[in-house]
Amino acid sequence: MSREIKIYNTLTKQKEVFKPIVDGHVGMYVCGPTVYGDPHLGHARPAITFDVVFRYLQHADYKVRYVRNITDAGHLENDADQGEDKIVKKARLEELEPMEIVQLYTLRYHKAIKDLNCLPPSIEPRATGHIIEQIEMVKQILENGFAYEKNGSVYLDINKYNASYPYGILSGRNLEDTLEGTRELDGQSEKKSAVDFAIWKKASAEHIMRWSSPWGEGFPGWHMECSAMSEKYLGKTFDIHGGGMDLVFPHHEAEIAQSNACNNCNPVNYWMHNNMITVDGKKMGKSLGNFINLEEFFTGNHEKLEKAYAPMTIRFFILQAHYRSTIDFSNGALQAAEKGFAKLMNAIKTLTQLKAAESSTYNVNELEKKCYAAMDDDFNTPILIAHIFDAVRIINSIKDGKESLDTNDLARLKLIFKNFVTDILGFFPEKNNKNDMTAEIMNLVLKLRSNAKLNKDFETADLIRDELKKAGIEIKDSREGSSWGIKN
Ligand code: ZN
Repeated sequence: MSREIKIYNTLTKQKEVFKPIVDGHVGMYVCGPTVYGDPHLGHARPAITFDVVFRYLQHADYKVRYVRNITDAGHLENDADQGEDKIVKKARLEELEPMEIVQLYTLRYHKAIKDLNCLPPSIEPRATGHIIEQIEMVKQILENGFAYEKNGSVYLDINKYNASYPYGILSGRNLEDTLEGTRELDGQSEKKSAVDFAIWKKASAEHIMRWSSPWGEGFPGWHMECSAMSEKYLGKTFDIHGGGMDLVFPHHEAEIAQSNACNNCNPVNYWMHNNMITVDGKKMGKSLGNFINLEEFFTGNHEKLEKAYAPMTIRFFILQAHYRSTIDFSNGALQAAEKGFAKLMNAIKTLTQLKAAESSTYNVNELEKKCYAAMDDDFNTPILIAHIFDAVRIINSIKDGKESLDTNDLARLKLIFKNFVTDILGFFPEKNNKNDMTAEIMNLVLKLRSNAKLNKDFETADLIRDELKKAGIEIKDSREGSSWGIKN
């Protein structure tokens, strides 16, 4: 591949030139949603971040296998293996079968993420569809001597692991730090050490989601699915693993330990993590009243929202920040993003109408170079957007006759906008404004009716008027032409 793309690797804490394991191919795994609630901003950010990575790597001619899982089993309330599976809890509260909860929220997640114009991943495996693979991995870890079974549960023996592999290489937490931060809770006594974590958990009598295993009925530990599914679809070691920063510890640290303990190799070459989102400067939380789900953003139906925000406004807003920076959502910031996005879309419309001149006063090649340089530098979308807005200014100047582009350069500029704005950033003009669409359709209908009248086809003209009347739309004819309005 000719492009030199630099990726910030959480493992080495530096930017590295990306070199895939197999030339021309990329294996990328991203931790997907746990489907027990409505998709919210916390889901939108990793989905959009890694959508842009997926799009850019494909644009750079890589064949990318993008795997994003659906967590539909096995998560408990906390890492201490205490509490209740979130899906099971929601199912109990709503008096539904756990798989009905999974289906309901998987569909909602897919809809919201599609509205945000994220491309679907190449494979979207589910945890419950890979119980066998997870059991096999637990068996292998036991065989390799890095785990022990106790009362039907299997735990990774961190002290034993740490003697062969350094534990904490991703998060930078050493074993002592981790021990200090881990309280001994009731029911943990079956572990050899408080830092050990369950890779298989015995199901209590009331636990609904359960499977047979060599250790009795139970369910996989909450880090197990990603290790098993990434290995199945991408191999024992693959190129990129992504997710939110909150997953670095313990989830991704545990994935590394499980893979080493099972396969004696590090699973991932480049670890990428997107930063978190706050709302009005505060962490999102149900108790804080600032927990706004994506559907509420799109409809404006939440007391904290001054208006509805289109999915493209949310996407634009998220990509205006680098993925490793924090973002703070507020009405003011979203309205600024909405204005910026409208300006960009207007410039694209203007660009299609520009006429070429004899000579160019603007260096289009330089613009293209800068756009690639921004994306090659760890997917720096805010810098890319800044360069695109320089071009927006030029487009408006050309329209005003203050700048010019020759035929070649004008075609090139259009291609740059198609590549970077549409294909890589994934922006498109909002078409779901129902008022605009109704107006366009009605103007067309009125044109067809006036043509019918010109052709003395009064039957059709009357039919259109009468049928619209039935639908609650009134046509008024006057000397200036026809107009329409909704009947009250
Ligand atoms: Zn995961």
